Amino acid sequence: MQSLYSNDAPASANDERFDGLLRLARRHFDVMAALLLSGGEGRQQVRACAGLGAAQLARLGSLDDWADADALHLVADAQLDARLCDHRLVAAAPHLRFFAACPLPAPGGGVLCLLDDRPRALDAAQQQALYEFAGLALEQLGRDQADAQQRQEIAALRDSERRMALAIAGSGTGIWDRNVATGEIHYSSGWKALLGYADHEIGNRIEESYTRVHPADLDYVKATIAAHLEQRTAAYEVEHRLRCRDGRYKWVCSRGKVVERDGAGQPLRMIGTTTDITAMRTLAERLQQSAALMTDLTNEIPGMVFQYRRQPDGESAFAYVSAGAEDICGLSAEQLLHDAQALPALVHPDDRAAFLASFEASARQLTAWHLEFRLQLPGQEIAWRQGEACPRRLEDGSVLWHGFITDVTERKQIEAELQAFATTDFLTQLANRRHFMQLLEAELARLQRSPGQCATILMFDLDHFKAINDRWGHSVGDQALRHFATILCAQLRKTDAAGRMGGEEFAAVLSDADLHQARHFAQRIQGELAKTPILHGGEQIFLAVSVGISSLSAADASAETALSRSDIALYCAKRGGRNRIECH
Ligand code: GH3
Ligand code: MG
Ligand code: MG
Repeated sequence: MQSLYSNDAPASANDERFDGLLRLARRHFDVMAALLLSGGEGRQQVRACAGLGAAQLARLGSLDDWADADALHLVADAQLDARLCDHRLVAAAPHLRFFAACPLPAPGGGVLCLLDDRPRALDAAQQQALYEFAGLALEQLGRDQADAQQRQEIAALRDSERRMALAIAGSGTGIWDRNVATGEIHYSSGWKALLGYADHEIGNRIEESYTRVHPADLDYVKATIAAHLEQRTAAYEVEHRLRCRDGRYKWVCSRGKVVERDGAGQPLRMIGTTTDITAMRTLAERLQQSAALMTDLTNEIPGMVFQYRRQPDGESAFAYVSAGAEDICGLSAEQLLHDAQALPALVHPDDRAAFLASFEASARQLTAWHLEFRLQLPGQEIAWRQGEACPRRLEDGSVLWHGFITDVTERKQIEAELQAFATTDFLTQLANRRHFMQLLEAELARLQRSPGQCATILMFDLDHFKAINDRWGHSVGDQALRHFATILCAQLRKTDAAGRMGGEEFAAVLSDADLHQARHFAQRIQGELAKTPILHGGEQIFLAVSVGISSLSAADASAETALSRSDIALYCAKRGGRNRIECH
Protein backbone atom coordinates (compact mmCIF):
# COMPACT_ATOMS: atom_id res chain seq x y z
CA MET A 1 0.00 0.00 0.00
CA GLN A 2 2.89 2.26 0.82
CA SER A 3 4.42 1.78 -2.58
CA LEU A 4 1.12 2.40 -4.28
CA TYR A 5 0.63 5.56 -2.31
CA SER A 6 3.15 7.42 -4.39
CA ASN A 7 1.48 8.06 -7.76
CA ASP A 8 4.49 7.29 -9.82
CA ALA A 9 4.92 3.77 -8.42
CA PRO A 10 4.45 1.31 -11.28
CA ALA A 11 1.90 -1.28 -10.27
CA SER A 12 2.62 -3.72 -13.01
CA ALA A 13 4.02 -6.81 -11.35
CA ASN A 14 1.74 -9.19 -13.15
CA ASP A 15 2.06 -12.73 -11.86
CA GLU A 16 0.44 -14.92 -14.52
CA ARG A 17 -0.08 -17.82 -12.11
CA PHE A 18 -2.98 -15.82 -10.68
CA ASP A 19 -4.37 -14.83 -14.09
CA GLY A 20 -6.74 -17.80 -14.35
CA LEU A 21 -8.07 -17.28 -10.86
CA LEU A 22 -8.65 -13.55 -11.39
CA ARG A 23 -10.28 -14.07 -14.79
CA LEU A 24 -12.59 -16.63 -13.21
CA ALA A 25 -13.43 -14.25 -10.35
CA ARG A 26 -14.05 -11.42 -12.78
CA ARG A 27 -16.44 -13.55 -14.79
CA HIS A 28 -18.10 -15.06 -11.73
CA PHE A 29 -18.91 -11.70 -10.15
CA ASP A 30 -19.42 -10.05 -13.55
CA VAL A 31 -17.19 -7.09 -12.67
CA MET A 32 -14.91 -4.91 -14.75
CA ALA A 33 -11.73 -5.95 -12.96
CA ALA A 34 -10.28 -8.26 -10.33
CA LEU A 35 -6.98 -7.53 -8.53
CA LEU A 36 -4.73 -9.43 -6.19
CA LEU A 37 -2.60 -7.36 -3.83
CA SER A 38 0.10 -9.00 -1.78
CA GLY A 39 3.41 -8.37 -0.21
CA GLY A 40 4.85 -7.62 3.19
CA GLU A 41 3.20 -5.70 5.98
CA GLY A 42 2.06 -2.28 4.82
CA ARG A 43 3.65 -2.73 1.42
CA GLN A 44 0.89 -4.39 -0.56
CA GLN A 45 1.56 -4.43 -4.27
CA VAL A 46 -0.57 -5.42 -7.22
CA ARG A 47 0.48 -9.02 -7.68
CA ALA A 48 -1.88 -9.76 -10.59
CA CYS A 49 -4.76 -8.08 -12.34
CA ALA A 50 -7.51 -8.98 -14.79
CA GLY A 51 -9.54 -6.27 -16.51
CA LEU A 52 -7.43 -3.13 -16.02
CA GLY A 53 -4.86 -1.93 -18.54
CA ALA A 54 -1.35 -0.96 -17.54
CA ALA A 55 -2.17 2.75 -17.81
CA GLN A 56 -5.22 2.39 -15.59
CA LEU A 57 -3.22 0.33 -13.10
CA ALA A 58 -0.62 3.07 -13.01
CA ARG A 59 -3.33 5.55 -12.13
CA LEU A 60 -4.87 3.33 -9.48
CA GLY A 61 -2.71 5.00 -6.86
CA SER A 62 -3.30 4.26 -3.23
CA LEU A 63 -5.82 1.64 -2.28
CA ASP A 64 -5.16 2.46 1.32
CA ASP A 65 -8.53 3.97 2.00
CA TRP A 66 -10.47 1.24 0.23
CA ALA A 67 -9.00 -1.91 1.53
CA ASP A 68 -9.40 -3.16 5.07
CA ALA A 69 -6.90 -5.67 6.46
CA ASP A 70 -9.36 -7.47 8.69
CA ALA A 71 -12.73 -7.72 7.07
CA LEU A 72 -14.49 -7.62 3.77
CA HIS A 73 -14.81 -4.00 2.73
CA LEU A 74 -17.59 -3.07 0.32
CA VAL A 75 -18.23 0.30 -1.36
CA ALA A 76 -21.50 0.02 -3.28
CA ASP A 77 -21.08 3.36 -5.09
CA ALA A 78 -17.76 5.15 -5.01
CA GLN A 79 -19.32 8.39 -6.33
CA LEU A 80 -21.33 8.59 -3.10
CA ASP A 81 -18.31 7.75 -0.94
CA ALA A 82 -16.62 10.89 0.43
CA ARG A 83 -13.19 9.27 0.45
CA LEU A 84 -13.37 7.85 -3.06
CA CYS A 85 -15.43 10.27 -5.11
CA ASP A 86 -12.35 12.29 -6.06
CA HIS A 87 -10.20 9.28 -7.01
CA ARG A 88 -8.69 9.47 -10.47
CA LEU A 89 -10.36 6.26 -11.62
CA VAL A 90 -13.67 7.35 -10.12
CA ALA A 91 -13.83 10.98 -11.20
CA ALA A 92 -12.41 10.15 -14.64
CA ALA A 93 -12.46 7.07 -16.93
CA PRO A 94 -13.15 4.28 -16.30
CA HIS A 95 -15.43 5.98 -13.67
CA LEU A 96 -15.26 3.18 -11.15
CA ARG A 97 -18.34 2.91 -8.94
CA PHE A 98 -18.19 -0.41 -7.16
CA PHE A 99 -15.34 -1.59 -5.00
CA ALA A 100 -14.93 -4.75 -2.90
CA ALA A 101 -11.79 -5.73 -0.98
CA CYS A 102 -11.58 -9.15 0.69
CA PRO A 103 -8.54 -9.91 2.87
CA LEU A 104 -6.90 -13.29 2.24
CA PRO A 105 -7.62 -15.39 5.36
CA ALA A 106 -4.11 -15.23 6.76
CA PRO A 107 -2.27 -12.32 8.36
CA GLY A 108 -0.38 -10.31 5.78
CA GLY A 109 -1.62 -12.67 3.11
CA GLY A 110 -2.95 -10.02 0.73
CA VAL A 111 -6.22 -8.63 -0.56
CA LEU A 112 -8.50 -9.77 -3.37
CA CYS A 113 -10.29 -6.75 -4.94
CA LEU A 114 -13.23 -6.46 -7.30
CA LEU A 115 -13.78 -3.20 -9.24
CA ASP A 116 -16.71 -2.26 -11.44
CA ASP A 117 -17.99 0.84 -13.26
CA ARG A 118 -21.51 0.16 -12.09
CA PRO A 119 -22.80 0.59 -8.54
CA ARG A 120 -23.79 -2.72 -7.07
CA ALA A 121 -24.04 -4.88 -3.96
CA LEU A 122 -22.87 -8.39 -3.03
CA ASP A 123 -25.38 -10.66 -1.41
CA ALA A 124 -24.38 -13.12 1.31
CA ALA A 125 -23.76 -15.97 -1.16
CA GLN A 126 -21.62 -13.72 -3.33
CA GLN A 127 -19.67 -12.53 -0.30
CA GLN A 128 -19.13 -16.16 0.66
CA ALA A 129 -17.91 -16.88 -2.87
CA LEU A 130 -15.53 -13.91 -2.65
CA TYR A 131 -14.11 -15.36 0.56
CA GLU A 132 -13.63 -18.68 -1.21
CA PHE A 133 -11.80 -17.00 -4.08
CA ALA A 134 -9.60 -15.25 -1.53
CA GLY A 135 -8.88 -18.66 0.03
CA LEU A 136 -7.84 -20.07 -3.35
CA ALA A 137 -5.54 -17.09 -3.92
CA LEU A 138 -3.97 -17.69 -0.53
CA GLU A 139 -3.34 -21.36 -1.37
CA GLN A 140 -1.61 -20.37 -4.57
CA LEU A 141 0.43 -17.82 -2.65
CA GLY A 142 1.37 -20.51 -0.13
CA ARG A 143 2.49 -22.83 -2.92
CA ASP A 144 4.41 -19.93 -4.25
CA GLN A 145 6.22 -19.44 -0.97
CA ALA A 146 6.93 -23.15 -0.65
CA ASP A 147 8.39 -23.10 -4.19
CA ALA A 148 10.57 -20.14 -3.32
CA GLN A 149 11.76 -21.86 -0.16
CA GLN A 150 12.53 -25.05 -2.06
CA ARG A 151 14.47 -23.07 -4.63
CA GLN A 152 16.41 -21.43 -1.83
CA GLU A 153 17.12 -24.76 -0.18
CA ILE A 154 18.33 -26.29 -3.42
CA ALA A 155 20.60 -23.31 -4.00
CA ALA A 156 21.94 -23.61 -0.45
CA LEU A 157 22.52 -27.34 -0.95
CA ARG A 158 24.42 -26.68 -4.16
CA ASP A 159 26.47 -24.07 -2.36
CA SER A 160 27.34 -26.43 0.45
CA GLU A 161 28.13 -29.20 -2.04
CA ARG A 162 30.47 -26.85 -3.86
CA ARG A 163 32.07 -25.79 -0.60
CA MET A 164 32.50 -29.40 0.45
CA ALA A 165 34.08 -30.29 -2.91
CA LEU A 166 36.44 -27.34 -2.54
CA ALA A 167 37.26 -28.29 1.02
CA ILE A 168 37.95 -31.90 0.07
CA ALA A 169 40.12 -30.81 -2.86
CA GLY A 170 41.95 -28.30 -0.66
CA SER A 171 42.63 -30.79 2.13
CA GLY A 172 44.53 -33.14 -0.14
CA THR A 173 41.80 -35.74 0.09
CA GLY A 174 40.62 -38.08 -2.63
CA ILE A 175 37.49 -40.20 -2.69
CA TRP A 176 37.12 -43.82 -3.68
CA ASP A 177 34.15 -46.06 -4.19
CA ARG A 178 34.67 -49.80 -4.19
CA ASN A 179 32.37 -52.54 -5.36
CA VAL A 180 33.38 -55.28 -2.97
CA ALA A 181 31.55 -57.99 -4.86
CA THR A 182 33.17 -57.34 -8.25
CA GLY A 183 36.53 -56.01 -7.03
CA GLU A 184 36.12 -52.76 -8.90
CA ILE A 185 37.22 -49.50 -7.39
CA HIS A 186 36.64 -46.00 -8.72
CA TYR A 187 38.71 -43.01 -7.73
CA SER A 188 37.87 -39.31 -7.86
CA SER A 189 40.08 -37.09 -10.01
CA GLY A 190 41.35 -35.56 -6.77
CA TRP A 191 42.40 -39.02 -5.56
CA LYS A 192 44.40 -39.62 -8.71
CA ALA A 193 45.91 -36.16 -8.57
CA LEU A 194 47.04 -36.90 -5.02
CA LEU A 195 49.45 -39.49 -6.37
CA GLY A 196 50.31 -37.42 -9.47
CA TYR A 197 48.20 -39.40 -11.92
CA ALA A 198 45.98 -38.03 -14.67
CA ASP A 199 42.40 -39.31 -14.84
CA HIS A 200 43.05 -42.02 -17.44
CA GLU A 201 46.28 -43.30 -15.90
CA ILE A 202 44.76 -45.43 -13.16
CA GLY A 203 42.83 -48.65 -13.57
CA ASN A 204 39.82 -49.62 -11.52
CA ARG A 205 40.75 -53.04 -10.18
CA ILE A 206 41.33 -53.53 -6.48
CA GLU A 207 44.29 -55.86 -7.25
CA GLU A 208 46.02 -52.99 -9.03
CA SER A 209 45.37 -50.65 -6.11
CA TYR A 210 47.23 -53.02 -3.77
CA THR A 211 50.33 -52.81 -5.96
CA ARG A 212 50.66 -49.14 -5.01
CA VAL A 213 50.65 -49.84 -1.26
CA HIS A 214 54.13 -49.95 0.30
CA PRO A 215 55.11 -53.64 0.65
CA ALA A 216 55.86 -53.16 4.34
CA ASP A 217 52.34 -51.80 4.94
CA LEU A 218 50.37 -54.14 2.70
CA ASP A 219 49.59 -56.93 5.19
CA TYR A 220 48.46 -54.47 7.81
CA VAL A 221 46.27 -52.55 5.34
CA LYS A 222 44.65 -55.76 4.09
CA ALA A 223 44.04 -56.99 7.61
CA THR A 224 42.45 -53.68 8.61
CA ILE A 225 40.13 -53.76 5.57
CA ALA A 226 39.23 -57.41 6.23
CA ALA A 227 38.38 -56.55 9.85
CA HIS A 228 35.89 -53.96 8.67
CA LEU A 229 34.44 -56.08 5.86
CA GLU A 230 33.84 -58.82 8.42
CA GLN A 231 32.12 -56.25 10.65
CA ARG A 232 34.71 -56.51 13.40
CA THR A 233 35.19 -52.73 13.26
CA ALA A 234 32.66 -49.92 12.85
CA ALA A 235 34.79 -48.20 10.20
CA TYR A 236 38.04 -48.71 8.38
CA GLU A 237 40.92 -46.37 9.09
CA VAL A 238 44.59 -46.97 8.45
CA GLU A 239 47.75 -44.93 7.90
CA HIS A 240 50.10 -46.32 5.27
CA ARG A 241 52.29 -45.41 2.31
CA LEU A 242 51.16 -45.24 -1.30
CA ARG A 243 53.46 -45.13 -4.30
CA CYS A 244 53.08 -42.04 -6.48
CA ARG A 245 53.41 -41.88 -10.22
CA ASP A 246 57.03 -40.74 -9.85
CA GLY A 247 57.88 -43.78 -7.69
CA ARG A 248 58.12 -41.91 -4.40
CA TYR A 249 55.94 -42.88 -1.47
CA LYS A 250 53.44 -40.65 0.25
CA TRP A 251 51.98 -41.22 3.70
CA VAL A 252 48.20 -41.28 3.55
CA CYS A 253 45.33 -41.88 5.88
CA SER A 254 42.63 -44.11 4.36
CA ARG A 255 39.21 -44.07 5.90
CA GLY A 256 36.15 -45.92 4.71
CA LYS A 257 32.94 -47.64 5.56
CA VAL A 258 30.78 -50.35 4.01
CA VAL A 259 27.57 -48.61 2.89
CA GLU A 260 25.75 -51.61 1.48
CA ARG A 261 25.53 -55.26 2.49
CA ASP A 262 23.41 -58.09 1.13
CA GLY A 263 20.82 -59.95 3.17
CA ALA A 264 23.52 -62.29 4.51
CA GLY A 265 25.62 -59.33 5.69
CA GLN A 266 28.17 -59.72 2.91
CA PRO A 267 29.67 -56.33 1.98
CA LEU A 268 28.64 -54.98 -1.40
CA ARG A 269 29.88 -51.43 -1.52
CA MET A 270 32.44 -49.45 0.42
CA ILE A 271 33.14 -45.74 0.16
CA GLY A 272 36.03 -43.84 1.62
CA THR A 273 38.63 -41.14 1.46
CA THR A 274 42.37 -41.01 1.20
CA THR A 275 44.15 -38.03 2.74
CA ASP A 276 47.74 -37.00 2.18
CA ILE A 277 49.37 -36.87 5.64
CA THR A 278 53.00 -36.78 4.50
CA ALA A 279 53.56 -33.25 5.81
CA MET A 280 51.88 -34.13 9.08
CA ARG A 281 53.96 -37.30 9.46
CA THR A 282 57.16 -35.38 8.74
CA LEU A 283 56.22 -32.76 11.29
CA ALA A 284 55.26 -35.41 13.83
CA GLU A 285 58.55 -37.24 13.23
CA ARG A 286 60.52 -34.03 13.66
CA LEU A 287 58.61 -33.24 16.84
CA GLN A 288 59.28 -36.73 18.11
CA GLN A 289 62.98 -36.32 17.36
CA SER A 290 63.23 -33.03 19.18
CA ALA A 291 61.25 -34.42 22.11
CA ALA A 292 63.58 -37.43 22.19
CA LEU A 293 66.59 -35.12 22.10
CA MET A 294 65.22 -33.11 25.01
CA THR A 295 64.46 -36.24 27.01
CA ASP A 296 67.93 -37.64 26.27
CA LEU A 297 69.55 -34.40 27.31
CA THR A 298 67.64 -34.04 30.54
CA ASN A 299 67.93 -37.73 31.38
CA GLU A 300 71.66 -37.92 30.78
CA ILE A 301 72.43 -34.89 32.95
CA PRO A 302 73.24 -36.05 36.47
CA GLY A 303 70.47 -34.82 38.72
CA MET A 304 66.81 -34.12 38.19
CA VAL A 305 65.68 -31.57 35.61
CA PHE A 306 62.18 -30.29 36.18
CA GLN A 307 59.45 -27.88 35.19
CA TYR A 308 57.24 -26.97 38.10
CA ARG A 309 54.10 -24.86 37.99
CA ARG A 310 52.18 -23.19 40.75
CA GLN A 311 48.73 -21.81 39.97
CA PRO A 312 47.27 -18.64 41.50
CA ASP A 313 45.00 -20.79 43.70
CA GLY A 314 48.09 -22.44 45.24
CA GLU A 315 47.67 -25.74 43.40
CA SER A 316 51.03 -26.90 42.15
CA ALA A 317 52.42 -29.73 40.09
CA PHE A 318 55.45 -30.85 38.16
CA ALA A 319 54.90 -30.43 34.43
CA TYR A 320 58.09 -32.27 33.59
CA VAL A 321 60.52 -34.39 35.58
CA SER A 322 63.58 -36.10 34.12
CA ALA A 323 64.55 -39.68 34.86
CA GLY A 324 67.15 -38.40 37.35
CA ALA A 325 64.32 -38.14 39.92
CA GLU A 326 65.02 -41.75 40.82
CA ASP A 327 68.59 -40.93 41.92
CA ILE A 328 67.72 -37.62 43.53
CA CYS A 329 64.75 -38.58 45.65
CA GLY A 330 64.16 -42.28 45.12
CA LEU A 331 60.89 -41.58 43.29
CA SER A 332 60.11 -42.18 39.64
CA ALA A 333 59.36 -39.23 37.36
CA GLU A 334 55.79 -40.56 37.08
CA GLN A 335 55.34 -40.55 40.85
CA LEU A 336 56.44 -36.92 41.07
CA LEU A 337 54.30 -35.90 38.09
CA HIS A 338 51.37 -37.51 39.85
CA ASP A 339 52.12 -36.07 43.32
CA ALA A 340 54.36 -33.04 43.64
CA GLN A 341 54.03 -33.07 47.44
CA ALA A 342 55.99 -36.32 47.58
CA LEU A 343 59.21 -34.27 47.32
CA PRO A 344 58.76 -31.87 50.29
CA ALA A 345 57.61 -34.90 52.29
CA LEU A 346 61.11 -36.34 51.90
CA VAL A 347 62.89 -33.13 52.94
CA HIS A 348 64.55 -33.43 56.35
CA PRO A 349 62.16 -32.02 59.02
CA ASP A 350 64.79 -29.43 60.02
CA ASP A 351 64.98 -28.13 56.44
CA ARG A 352 61.35 -28.45 55.37
CA ALA A 353 60.22 -25.00 56.49
CA ALA A 354 63.17 -23.38 54.72
CA PHE A 355 62.46 -25.48 51.64
CA LEU A 356 58.84 -24.31 51.42
CA ALA A 357 59.70 -20.71 52.31
CA SER A 358 62.39 -20.53 49.64
CA PHE A 359 59.88 -21.49 46.95
CA GLU A 360 57.43 -19.02 48.40
CA ALA A 361 59.98 -16.20 48.22
CA SER A 362 61.02 -17.18 44.70
CA ALA A 363 57.39 -17.06 43.55
CA ARG A 364 56.72 -13.74 45.27
CA GLN A 365 59.80 -11.87 44.11
CA LEU A 366 60.37 -13.88 40.92
CA THR A 367 63.96 -14.41 42.01
CA ALA A 368 65.96 -17.52 41.29
CA TRP A 369 65.38 -20.44 43.64
CA HIS A 370 68.61 -21.64 45.19
CA LEU A 371 68.73 -23.96 48.17
CA GLU A 372 70.86 -26.62 49.77
CA PHE A 373 68.73 -29.01 51.77
CA ARG A 374 68.77 -32.45 53.25
CA LEU A 375 66.61 -35.37 52.20
CA GLN A 376 65.72 -38.17 54.52
CA LEU A 377 65.18 -41.07 52.15
CA PRO A 378 63.69 -44.21 53.70
CA GLY A 379 66.38 -46.62 54.85
CA GLN A 380 69.21 -44.31 53.78
CA GLU A 381 71.58 -41.86 55.40
CA ILE A 382 70.77 -38.17 55.21
CA ALA A 383 71.57 -36.91 51.72
CA TRP A 384 72.35 -33.36 50.68
CA ARG A 385 70.70 -31.86 47.61
CA GLN A 386 71.12 -28.55 45.87
CA GLY A 387 68.27 -26.99 43.90
CA GLU A 388 68.40 -24.22 41.34
CA ALA A 389 65.43 -22.88 39.36
CA CYS A 390 64.34 -19.76 37.54
CA PRO A 391 60.73 -18.63 37.99
CA ARG A 392 58.61 -16.99 35.32
CA ARG A 393 55.13 -15.48 35.71
CA LEU A 394 52.58 -16.75 33.19
CA GLU A 395 49.63 -14.82 31.82
CA ASP A 396 47.14 -16.58 34.10
CA GLY A 397 49.17 -15.57 37.17
CA SER A 398 50.82 -18.98 37.58
CA VAL A 399 54.53 -19.21 38.32
CA LEU A 400 56.55 -21.63 36.21
CA TRP A 401 60.01 -22.79 37.30
CA HIS A 402 62.61 -24.47 35.15
CA GLY A 403 65.39 -25.95 37.18
CA PHE A 404 67.34 -28.92 38.44
CA ILE A 405 68.28 -30.62 41.67
CA THR A 406 71.68 -32.24 42.07
CA ASP A 407 73.28 -34.53 44.62
CA VAL A 408 75.79 -32.55 46.70
CA THR A 409 76.17 -35.05 49.54
CA GLU A 410 79.85 -35.67 48.80
CA ARG A 411 80.61 -31.98 48.52
CA LYS A 412 78.78 -31.29 51.78
CA GLN A 413 80.77 -34.06 53.48
CA ILE A 414 84.06 -32.55 52.29
CA GLU A 415 82.85 -29.13 53.32
CA ALA A 416 81.92 -30.48 56.75
CA GLU A 417 85.35 -32.08 57.09
CA LEU A 418 87.05 -28.86 56.06
CA GLN A 419 84.85 -26.95 58.44
CA ALA A 420 85.77 -29.30 61.29
CA PHE A 421 89.39 -29.03 60.30
CA ALA A 422 89.23 -25.26 60.41
CA THR A 423 87.37 -25.03 63.69
CA THR A 424 88.63 -27.92 65.79
CA ASP A 425 91.83 -28.35 67.75
CA PHE A 426 93.40 -31.52 66.40
CA LEU A 427 94.88 -32.73 69.70
CA THR A 428 91.84 -32.32 71.96
CA GLN A 429 89.00 -32.15 69.42
CA LEU A 430 87.77 -29.03 71.24
CA ALA A 431 86.98 -25.83 69.37
CA ASN A 432 90.16 -24.00 68.44
CA ARG A 433 90.75 -20.46 69.58
CA ARG A 434 89.28 -18.84 66.46
CA HIS A 435 86.13 -20.95 66.61
CA PHE A 436 85.74 -20.50 70.37
CA MET A 437 85.89 -16.73 69.87
CA GLN A 438 83.08 -17.03 67.28
CA LEU A 439 81.01 -19.04 69.77
CA LEU A 440 81.71 -16.43 72.39
CA GLU A 441 80.66 -13.63 70.00
CA ALA A 442 77.44 -15.53 69.31
CA GLU A 443 76.76 -15.84 73.03
CA LEU A 444 77.41 -12.12 73.48
CA ALA A 445 75.00 -11.34 70.65
CA ARG A 446 72.40 -13.57 72.32
CA LEU A 447 72.76 -11.62 75.58
CA GLN A 448 72.48 -8.33 73.72
CA ARG A 449 69.29 -9.54 72.01
CA SER A 450 67.66 -10.79 75.20
CA PRO A 451 68.23 -8.56 78.24
CA GLY A 452 68.11 -10.25 81.65
CA GLN A 453 70.06 -13.29 80.47
CA CYS A 454 73.53 -14.02 81.82
CA ALA A 455 76.62 -16.02 80.95
CA THR A 456 80.13 -16.52 82.35
CA ILE A 457 83.54 -17.07 80.84
CA LEU A 458 86.10 -19.34 82.45
CA MET A 459 89.80 -19.42 81.57
CA PHE A 460 91.85 -22.49 82.60
CA ASP A 461 95.61 -22.85 82.68
CA LEU A 462 97.22 -26.11 83.78
CA ASP A 463 99.67 -25.63 86.59
CA HIS A 464 103.34 -26.39 86.11
CA PHE A 465 102.62 -28.05 82.82
CA LYS A 466 106.12 -27.46 81.54
CA ALA A 467 107.34 -29.72 84.33
CA ILE A 468 105.23 -32.64 83.00
CA ASN A 469 106.74 -32.21 79.58
CA ASP A 470 110.15 -31.95 81.05
CA ARG A 471 109.82 -34.96 83.26
CA TRP A 472 107.75 -37.46 81.24
CA GLY A 473 108.12 -36.20 77.73
CA HIS A 474 106.00 -34.32 75.26
CA SER A 475 103.63 -37.20 74.47
CA VAL A 476 102.68 -37.52 78.13
CA GLY A 477 102.13 -33.75 78.01
CA ASP A 478 99.80 -34.32 75.07
CA GLN A 479 98.03 -37.08 76.97
CA ALA A 480 97.58 -34.67 79.89
CA LEU A 481 96.04 -32.07 77.58
CA ARG A 482 93.59 -34.63 76.17
CA HIS A 483 92.78 -35.83 79.66
CA PHE A 484 91.93 -32.32 80.76
CA ALA A 485 89.82 -31.73 77.63
CA THR A 486 87.83 -34.90 78.36
CA ILE A 487 87.13 -33.82 81.93
CA LEU A 488 86.14 -30.33 80.78
CA CYS A 489 83.79 -31.67 78.12
CA ALA A 490 82.14 -34.07 80.52
CA GLN A 491 81.03 -31.14 82.64
CA LEU A 492 79.55 -29.08 79.78
CA ARG A 493 75.84 -28.77 79.19
CA LYS A 494 74.44 -28.65 75.65
CA THR A 495 74.26 -24.88 75.69
CA ASP A 496 77.86 -24.43 76.94
CA ALA A 497 80.97 -24.31 74.79
CA ALA A 498 84.67 -24.90 75.38
CA GLY A 499 87.83 -24.41 73.40
CA ARG A 500 91.58 -24.81 73.53
CA MET A 501 92.99 -21.34 73.45
CA GLY A 502 96.58 -22.51 72.88
CA GLY A 503 99.27 -24.49 74.73
CA GLU A 504 97.81 -25.67 78.05
CA GLU A 505 95.18 -22.93 78.18
CA PHE A 506 91.49 -23.65 77.80
CA ALA A 507 88.31 -21.59 77.99
CA ALA A 508 84.61 -22.28 78.48
CA VAL A 509 81.50 -20.14 78.20
CA LEU A 510 78.49 -21.15 80.27
CA SER A 511 75.07 -19.95 79.14
CA ASP A 512 72.61 -18.83 81.79
CA ALA A 513 75.18 -19.25 84.57
CA ASP A 514 76.21 -16.63 87.10
CA LEU A 515 79.61 -16.35 88.80
CA HIS A 516 78.45 -18.57 91.61
CA GLN A 517 77.42 -21.38 89.29
CA ALA A 518 80.60 -20.91 87.29
CA ARG A 519 82.69 -21.28 90.43
CA HIS A 520 80.92 -24.59 91.16
CA PHE A 521 81.62 -25.68 87.63
CA ALA A 522 85.33 -24.89 88.06
CA GLN A 523 85.39 -26.70 91.42
CA ARG A 524 83.93 -29.79 89.83
CA ILE A 525 86.69 -29.76 87.23
CA GLN A 526 89.39 -29.34 89.84
CA GLY A 527 87.78 -32.13 91.85
CA GLU A 528 87.75 -34.48 88.83
CA LEU A 529 91.38 -33.63 88.05
CA ALA A 530 92.36 -34.39 91.60
CA LYS A 531 90.46 -37.70 91.53
CA THR A 532 91.71 -38.93 88.16
CA PRO A 533 95.45 -38.76 87.65
CA ILE A 534 96.87 -39.89 84.34
CA LEU A 535 98.81 -43.12 84.44
CA HIS A 536 102.22 -43.44 82.90
CA GLY A 537 104.42 -46.50 83.33
CA GLY A 538 102.67 -47.42 86.58
CA GLU A 539 103.11 -43.85 87.85
CA GLN A 540 100.18 -41.57 88.70
CA ILE A 541 100.50 -38.05 87.40
CA PHE A 542 98.17 -35.58 89.06
CA LEU A 543 97.13 -32.47 87.23
CA ALA A 544 96.02 -29.17 88.71
CA VAL A 545 94.48 -26.16 87.05
CA SER A 546 94.05 -22.46 87.84
CA VAL A 547 90.77 -20.84 86.84
CA GLY A 548 89.80 -17.22 86.19
CA ILE A 549 86.07 -16.36 85.89
CA SER A 550 84.20 -13.28 84.75
CA SER A 551 80.65 -12.51 83.65
CA LEU A 552 79.86 -11.92 80.05
CA SER A 553 77.90 -8.70 79.86
CA ALA A 554 75.57 -7.33 77.20
CA ALA A 555 77.49 -4.08 77.61
CA ASP A 556 80.74 -5.75 76.47
CA ALA A 557 82.07 -4.21 73.30
CA SER A 558 83.49 -7.55 72.18
CA ALA A 559 84.09 -11.12 73.25
CA GLU A 560 87.78 -10.29 73.49
CA THR A 561 87.07 -7.63 76.17
CA ALA A 562 85.13 -10.11 78.30
CA LEU A 563 87.78 -12.80 77.84
CA SER A 564 90.54 -10.46 79.01
CA ARG A 565 88.73 -10.03 82.34
CA SER A 566 88.80 -13.80 82.89
CA ASP A 567 92.47 -13.69 81.95
CA ILE A 568 93.10 -11.14 84.66
CA ALA A 569 91.28 -13.34 87.17
CA LEU A 570 93.35 -16.32 86.00
CA TYR A 571 96.54 -14.32 86.53
CA CYS A 572 95.35 -13.63 90.10
CA ALA A 573 94.75 -17.35 90.62
CA LYS A 574 98.30 -18.10 89.49
CA ARG A 575 99.73 -15.35 91.65
CA GLY A 576 97.62 -16.59 94.53
CA GLY A 577 99.41 -19.92 94.48
CA ARG A 578 97.83 -21.96 91.61
CA ASN A 579 95.09 -24.66 91.71
CA ARG A 580 92.79 -21.77 92.64
CA ILE A 581 89.63 -20.17 91.31
CA GLU A 582 89.38 -16.40 91.06
CA CYS A 583 86.44 -14.28 89.89
CA HIS A 584 86.96 -10.91 88.23
P1 GH3 B 1 102.27 -22.19 85.05
O1 GH3 B 1 101.88 -22.98 86.22
O2 GH3 B 1 102.78 -20.84 85.39
O3 GH3 B 1 101.22 -22.13 84.06
O4 GH3 B 1 103.52 -22.96 84.47
P2 GH3 B 1 103.54 -23.80 83.15
O5 GH3 B 1 104.71 -24.61 83.14
O6 GH3 B 1 102.25 -24.51 83.02
O7 GH3 B 1 103.56 -22.70 82.04
P3 GH3 B 1 104.54 -22.37 80.91
O8 GH3 B 1 103.91 -21.31 80.07
O9 GH3 B 1 105.88 -22.05 81.48
O10 GH3 B 1 104.72 -23.68 80.10
C1 GH3 B 1 103.75 -24.16 79.21
C2 GH3 B 1 104.32 -25.28 78.46
O11 GH3 B 1 103.37 -26.00 77.71
C3 GH3 B 1 105.36 -24.81 77.47
C4 GH3 B 1 105.13 -25.69 76.25
O12 GH3 B 1 106.24 -26.42 75.84
C5 GH3 B 1 104.05 -26.59 76.63
N1 GH3 B 1 103.17 -26.85 75.55
C6 GH3 B 1 102.52 -25.97 74.79
N2 GH3 B 1 101.77 -26.62 73.84
C7 GH3 B 1 101.97 -27.95 74.04
C8 GH3 B 1 101.51 -29.11 73.41
O13 GH3 B 1 100.70 -29.09 72.47
N3 GH3 B 1 101.93 -30.30 73.88
C9 GH3 B 1 102.78 -30.43 74.89
N4 GH3 B 1 103.15 -31.63 75.30
N5 GH3 B 1 103.25 -29.33 75.50
C10 GH3 B 1 102.87 -28.10 75.09
MG1 MG C 1 100.16 -21.12 80.30
MG1 MG D 1 100.47 -23.38 82.88
